[in-house]
Amino acid sequence: MSTKNILVIGGGIGGISAAIAMRNKGFNVKVVELQADMHSSVFGVGIIQPVNALRALEAIGCADACMNAGYATRAWGKMLDFEGKEVREIPGAAIPGSELPPMNGLTRPKLHEILTKKAREVGVVIEYSKTFTEIADNGENVRVAFSDGTSGVFDFVVGADGTYSKVRTHVLGIDLKPTYNGQSAFRVNIPRRIPGQMDIDRIILQRGPEGMAGYVPIGPELAYMFYNSEWEQGTWLEQDSMAEVLCDKLKGFGGLTGAVRDHHIKDSSAVVFRPIDWMIAPPPWHKNRIVLLGDAAHAFLPHLGQGAAQAIEDGVVLAECLDSSSDPDVAFQEYTDRRYERCRLVIQCCVDIGEWEKGRKPGFDNIAATQKVIETMVQPI
Ligand SMILES: Cc1cc2nc3c(=O)[nH]c(=O)nc-3n(C[C@H](O)[C@H](O)[C@H](O)COP(=O)(O)OP(=O)(O)OC[C@H]3O[C@@H](n4cnc5c(N)ncnc54)[C@H](O)[C@@H]3O)c2cc1C
Repeated sequence: MSTKNILVIGGGIGGISAAIAMRNKGFNVKVVELQADMHSSVFGVGIIQPVNALRALEAIGCADACMNAGYATRAWGKMLDFEGKEVREIPGAAIPGSELPPMNGLTRPKLHEILTKKAREVGVVIEYSKTFTEIADNGENVRVAFSDGTSGVFDFVVGADGTYSKVRTHVLGIDLKPTYNGQSAFRVNIPRRIPGQMDIDRIILQRGPEGMAGYVPIGPELAYMFYNSEWEQGTWLEQDSMAEVLCDKLKGFGGLTGAVRDHHIKDSSAVVFRPIDWMIAPPPWHKNRIVLLGDAAHAFLPHLGQGAAQAIEDGVVLAECLDSSSDPDVAFQEYTDRRYERCRLVIQCCVDIGEWEKGRKPGFDNIAATQKVIETMVQPI
């Protein structure tokens, strides 16, 4: 039997992880990425890697490198009140029989470097500044024309081109638009140890009347702060006003957030502001020989740090399914069956947490909901 050729469209966390997983199963894999290089589409801020992300990264040989480059915690997190007093613990959960920590944090550029290095080591071909212009699936194979004038024939195509995926329309037959949840997120890197404040050695959440501040360790000396708050859809902020706007939003916070606001948010160019959009494609996530993965199939809200985690899990499961059946309908159906409900559950919980953060879900217990999702995520994929 000849080796199957797979094209992955999109070289983000999901696309590269899937490419490694499929290459490790013996497939020939090429990735085309719209951006000019591995860093062009990546913000310098950090990313949470819950234990299930680490398990999936372990499966593609990247977990140790991530933990060495980041900060692995001993517990999931804790919650502070507006003044800065600790009010609750969030223990997280362990994977039975595994020594992986509850979570690791690292910078996004580092994660991309680790994944890209591994992909090249195992023989994945990555081409930058390139996308598809036409895609034609005749049931036997998929003919793809590229933006650089070249073309190719592939056995399967994986659409890993993110929340605003262009491949998605070819699979679903409709232009499915993401939903804005009413919140946008600020993110900025800060020192991990703030003088006079508690060590950021796990996720720390601090809720204010208008939004949720959070802290994630991403290296021995580095952490990042996020702040989710309500904004009208389409709000755009001048880059050079970011620090001022964020500090204004954080008025009144005491404790850790007060100290960060007063001493560590000075450089507007270092602050990222992004709307929170979400979407889950209805099953199945494939049509004939084209399949969706990562944010192209399910764009996550950031509230549980699970978007990239689920994208990496997608890649591992997709590779297993393609390895176990040569019939794409069977393989891709099994893939969706194993992925859809898990992703839907996390997205629903994030939507609920977002509503609660906006003050629209009184009585909701965000810690209990978070803990329940983590306990579900440590179950086998
Ligand atoms: C504020 C915020 C915070 C988050 N924090 C976390 C976190 O802490 N932990 C976590 O697990 N998740 C987090 N996420 C979610 C996570 O970033 C995404 O789920 C993850 O990046 C999805 O990876 P992906 O590869 O599917 O998509 P993307 O990262 O969007 O990658 C898609 C890639 O495809 C490329 N592309 C797009 N169109 C084309 C095309 N036509 N042709 C070729 N290439 C194309 C893009 O340039 C990009 O490189 C967060 C999200 C947000 C918004």
